[in-house]
Amino acid sequence: METTLILLKPDTVQRWLIGQIISRFENKGLKIIWMKMMNLSEEIINEHYDFLADKPFFPKIKSYMTSAPVVAMAVSWTNVIKTVRILTWATNPAEALPGSIRWDFALTIDWNVIHASDSEETAQIELKRFFKEWEITNYTKISDETVG
Ligand code: GDP
Repeated sequence: METTLILLKPDTVQRWLIGQIISRFENKGLKIIWMKMMNLSEEIINEHYDFLADKPFFPKIKSYMTSAPVVAMAVSWTNVIKTVRILTWATNPAEALPGSIRWDFALTIDWNVIHASDSEETAQIELKRFFKEWEITNYTKISDETVG
């Protein structure tokens, strides 16, 4: 089974969308193994978005990501990284598919409601970044038996 990192960004928290977006993962049958609400430090934002540090919109990302807490989640399933990226879809909600999280909930590229790891390698780094204490819960879901 793969595990991915999901962040429900500050607009999700401000707009009472946490439950609706988590429902998308539950409806799909994905297994939530860790979840916490947290305020992001400048340090963690710099690290997480390091690859965008020289972009003109980087200050906007920083003020957005510190404007309210995020909900950080670790979610597991076979091919979960690709599955969650499909559920999430394009960075710019205007280019997302109807039915995807960003199409259905996000307003603009500046406020796009969710982050999801984009590869296995990134997921490993990001999970360690957000869950330093590594307290991933361990439980069996009935559906686990269907995962090869
Ligand atoms: P993602 O994997 O779809 O989240 O997209 P990226 O990894 O390319 O970008 C990370 C985050 O930076 C996005 O989710 C946006 O919050 C932000 N971002 C990316 N491109 C832009 C942009 O052109 N303008 C602004 N304001 N934010 C952007």
